Amino acid sequence: MKILANDGISESGISLLEKNGFQVLTTTVAQQQLANYINDNDVVGLLVRSATKVKKDVIDACPKLKLIGRGGVGMDNIDVAYAESKGIHVINTPAASSESVAELVFAHLYGGVRFLYDANRNMPLEGDSRFKQLKKSYGKGKELRGKTLGIIGFGRIGQATAKLAIGVGMNVLYHDPQLDNVEVSLSFFDNRSVTFNLKNTDKERLLKEADFITVHVPFQNEYVLGKKEFDMMKDGVGIINAARGGVIDEVALVAALESNKISFAGMDVYESEPNPEIKILMHPKISLTPHIGAATEEAQDRIGVELAEQIISRLK
Ligand code: NAD
Repeated sequence: MKILANDGISESGISLLEKNGFQVLTTTVAQQQLANYINDNDVVGLLVRSATKVKKDVIDACPKLKLIGRGGVGMDNIDVAYAESKGIHVINTPAASSESVAELVFAHLYGGVRFLYDANRNMPLEGDSRFKQLKKSYGKGKELRGKTLGIIGFGRIGQATAKLAIGVGMNVLYHDPQLDNVEVSLSFFDNRSVTFNLKNTDKERLLKEADFITVHVPFQNEYVLGKKEFDMMKDGVGIINAARGGVIDEVALVAALESNKISFAGMDVYESEPNPEIKILMHPKISLTPHIGAATEEAQDRIGVELAEQIISRLK
C-alpha cells in the first residue's frame, strides 16, 4: 500500500511504515496535480502538514483514498467532516509537539527579559563602535525566577509550558474554562518526579497578577487579548503568542508596546500569516519567529512515528 507524505515525514516514520509493508512516497506534488498523482500511483494514504490542502475537490477526485493524516495539530487545511462522511480516516498528532512549543515560549521569554531580540539586531551594526552604549541600553534585564507566568488555555501546550515555568522557579496562574483543577507532573533526570496541583484562575485576576502572559488556546472568532485586556495588565508585562494568529489583537498590541504598557512581545504566529504586518516585523520590542513552534527534530520524529503507528493500526 502506498502512502504519499506530501509535506515530508521523518526518517523514523518512514522506516516504521516500510517495516510494516507500506511504500512511502516523499515527492512534493503541486496542489493542482495532487489528485491526479494520487490516482495514477494508487496512493491510499495522504500525509500533510500545513502546506497541502485536502479539501472537497481533492476528496471527491480521489475515491480510493482511505486515510488523510496531518502531522501536527490544526486541521484547518483538511475538510475533516466531509472526508469522514466519505469513510476516509482522518488522523493527526496533537501531543507530539507540545514540549517543542513550550520550549519556544521560553526562548522568547528569556530572550525578552534580556533584550536578546534587540541586541541581536544592533550588535552586528554597532557592537564595535557603540559597545558601551549598547551595554547600558540592555543593562536592565530581569530574571524569570520568582515571577508569575499567566497561561491562558491550559491544554497540552499550556501544561507543558507550566512544567518549564515551575522548573525554573516561576509561579504559575492558568485560566481555562474547561479545567478547574490540573495535576502537572515534572520528571527529573534521576527518575524522580514531583506533582503539582494547580487550580483555575479567573481571567481578570490572571491579567492583573501575571508578569508574563502566554496564550495557548485554539483559533477562535474573538480576540483573547485586546486593548481591554492589555489595560488590565501590570505595567511592563511581557506577552507571548505561539498559539494562532488572530488570538491577539496586533493593532492593540503595537499600541500597548508603544505606550510601554507591554515591555516586549514574543511572536511565532501572526494575524496576516504568511505576510505578517510590517509594523510587527520591524517593531524593536518584538521577538519574532516564523511559526516554528513545532519545528524541532524531536517533535518531527515523534510526529512521524505517531502517524506511522496510527496508519498501521487502521490500514494494515
Ligand atoms: P489543546 O486543545 O490541548 O488546549 C487548548 C485549551 O484551550 C483547551 O483546554 C481549551 O479548554 C482552552 N481554551 C479554549 N478557548 C479558551 C479561552 N477563550 N480562554 C481560555 N482557554 C481556552 O491545544 P494545544 O495542543 O495545547 O494547542 C494550543 C494552541 O497551540 C492551538 O491554537 C494550536 O494550533 C497551537 N499550536 C501552535 C504551534 C506552533 O507552531 N506555534 C504548534 C502546535 C500547536
